[in-house]
Amino acid sequence: MRKFLKQWRYYSLGRDEYRKCMDKIFINNLYNLRQANIAVIVVGFCFTLFPLLIENNFFKAGVQLVLVVVAALLCIFVSHKISQHKQGRHINKRLIYTQIILYYANIILFGIYLGIFANPEKLAVSFMGILICALCLFNISPLFSLYSTLGAISLFIAASIFIKTPGNYSFDIVNVLFAGCVAQFFGWKITMFRMSLASSAGKLEEERNRYYGQSLLDELTQLKNRRDFMQTFQRFLSNYRQSDNFLCIAMIDIDFFKNYNDYYGHAKGDECLCAVGKALKDLNERMGIYAARVGGEEFALIWFEKEVANVGNVTSEISQMISNLNIHHERSNIASNITVSIGVQVVQCGSHYDLHTLYDLADKALYTAKRNGRNQIVINSSLSIA
Ligand code: GH3
Ligand code: MG
Ligand code: MG
Repeated sequence: MRKFLKQWRYYSLGRDEYRKCMDKIFINNLYNLRQANIAVIVVGFCFTLFPLLIENNFFKAGVQLVLVVVAALLCIFVSHKISQHKQGRHINKRLIYTQIILYYANIILFGIYLGIFANPEKLAVSFMGILICALCLFNISPLFSLYSTLGAISLFIAASIFIKTPGNYSFDIVNVLFAGCVAQFFGWKITMFRMSLASSAGKLEEERNRYYGQSLLDELTQLKNRRDFMQTFQRFLSNYRQSDNFLCIAMIDIDFFKNYNDYYGHAKGDECLCAVGKALKDLNERMGIYAARVGGEEFALIWFEKEVANVGNVTSEISQMISNLNIHHERSNIASNITVSIGVQVVQCGSHYDLHTLYDLADKALYTAKRNGRNQIVINSSLSIA
């Protein structure tokens, strides 16, 4: 029994999945409720206006028109407020509850008015049944649905007993109770279906995000890859137009890596790339420097500096950090350990250089470092391009 209740309560999805889907259904409900609210007002208005016009009761019809316009304006106002508060996926639940309560109030008032007051003959009470069923379609929690249906049923019964003559309301009571049971069952089924749709849509989105994340990662070193580097670089360029800082783009290339591969084998070469990659990845936490692997044994860094003079210290520290990895390199022509050459382009934030120009300039600086003998840093901080 407990198991059944638990399944019933979370639409057989489990608590966590139910909570995830609830937000999506909430947002869908918000848009549907907006239309439903207006529809209830307009339909209710037409149903009650018709008999009044037939009776030539224009005063009552006029009062009713004013009431309907006020109710419609209130609904539009609340909907407008909600759409203003909706920011991305975070949505103001208090306002949504207001809209749901408004909808319930509408439906219950019109149900009582149409079913009991305006059309007191026996069959008219089926309005209430239809309206109770409609209540369940906008529920997201079976418990909430149960309580609200019980509330609506009690209200209808109380109104019927109060308004109709004794003995004349037994039909209403049976009708409303029956409608409540039907509404509970179908409301539960329909919301369960919507929940499972939301759940599979959520899973698909998670999968998509996972694949997207993987498409930006270098599998070997777990650093970001060239695609992510280009996107990040572009973001840095467009986001920091107003900043006073300097944007630094560094290209790092391992020296004599082909010799390393040939001598130690490809597997050892991979290990070396991983070690260098890990050291560069740690830079992000330590110094806020973004690092990516942009080619075979080539890495790129982006960061900000307040002073141009600081760039030399930072890059020397990085070069030293890689030497300190102490990866022995028998076939290097310049050292006994793995070393790197670094080319840096420094540019004032807000200058209008495009991504490819800056990338090429950093690459040129790197090749100057290679040409000059490797294991060194070339910083190009001249801000005008020759
Ligand atoms: P330089 O000092 O001028 O940079 O010389 P280099 O030998 O480092 O440069 P070169 O471009 O001639 O060789 C790069 C080598 O990097 C060639 C290739 O075998 C190796 N390489 C590229 N990608 C990978 C990889 O994913 N794993 C391994 N193990 N080696 C790679
Ligand atoms: Mg190299
Ligand atoms: Mg290279």
